[in-house]
Amino acid sequence: MSKFLSEKFKDLEPYTPGEQPQDKKYVKLNTNESPFKPCPGVMKALSEEAVSQLYLYSDPTANKLVEAIAEYYTNYVKENGKNFVISKENVIVSNGSDEVLAFIFNAYTDKDKGMACPEIGYGFYPVFCSLYGVPFKSIKIRDDFSIDISAFKGISENITIANPNAQTGLYLSLNDIKTLLSENKDRIIVIDEAYCDFGGESASVLLDEYENLIVVGTLSKSRQLAGGRVGFAIASKEIIQDLNTIKYSFNPYNLNRLSILAGVEAMKDVDYFNKTRKVVMENREYLKEELKKLGFKVTDSKSNFILVSTPKMGGKELYLKLKERGVLVRFLSDELLKNWVRITIGSKEQLNVLLKEIKEILGA
Ligand code: PMP
Repeated sequence: MSKFLSEKFKDLEPYTPGEQPQDKKYVKLNTNESPFKPCPGVMKALSEEAVSQLYLYSDPTANKLVEAIAEYYTNYVKENGKNFVISKENVIVSNGSDEVLAFIFNAYTDKDKGMACPEIGYGFYPVFCSLYGVPFKSIKIRDDFSIDISAFKGISENITIANPNAQTGLYLSLNDIKTLLSENKDRIIVIDEAYCDFGGESASVLLDEYENLIVVGTLSKSRQLAGGRVGFAIASKEIIQDLNTIKYSFNPYNLNRLSILAGVEAMKDVDYFNKTRKVVMENREYLKEELKKLGFKVTDSKSNFILVSTPKMGGKELYLKLKERGVLVRFLSDELLKNWVRITIGSKEQLNVLLKEIKEILGA
């Protein structure tokens, strides 16, 4: 740390992203990327012509991408029995959903009103609170890692929950989310749906009923654009205005030209999206069953990862042994997770390599 760093950041502990090895080739199952390449339209859109336009700034409103997201979700709510329109004014896009989460925490928290989150969740939430110097409240979860929404009763903070939850993959029903929204009308409720496309129902269907709801999404997991950095939030027009105020006070051109083009294609190719997420969900169930046969405890994940533990060794040991053998999974330093590792659902071939290595490690 330099002697110039502001006093307020001296104790800031930044988020530690998962390993992204740039040299050695691993079977990479550690940061919940898709095992598929981006949809064909993305490859086409990122043409020489598109690259040649990089001398010009990108559209600060990312209009085409915002439109594509609004259209997808308008169709989604219709298919799920609701009849309201999600318009461009209800959507903001960001450089990965991390960025829009940063805008949200910035916009709605202060020293008197922090953020409450389940004690196991996305590790970035407490970091945002530290960055902004606002209180972070960790809410107890049950022993089986499920979220007990009654534990949020009577708190004074805003609430952010990843659904399905980060690390556990466990899914909270829309009824539970409705309860949270109705019991906390004066607070912002953020539902982070990074993993929702792998078996959950999007809370976007509730946007017509609750003005305190923000749904956050990403194209990193189910739309193959982790390296393109495209995220978004959907909420009331007023909330989107607030978030734009933050964005335009920070980085108006927050999405680059190529990511906007890629994002539009990825949102529009619904067939590819459906086909690829179906494979991920099938592979997830396959991996769950195979690991259970080997005596593993496996969470009932509705996500593109599973959290697993074996009575034969701790999480760190299993992670290190797999890494030695060229398979990268995620060990999370949280005390509650010391016996667990998180495994991203890869292709069947990748999962079979993982299973072979696990069998050898366990002598099974
Ligand atoms: N929310 C959750 C729950 C996540 O696990 C992640 C991925 N680390 C993100 C948001 C951020 O994803 P991205 O910035 O790639 O959109």
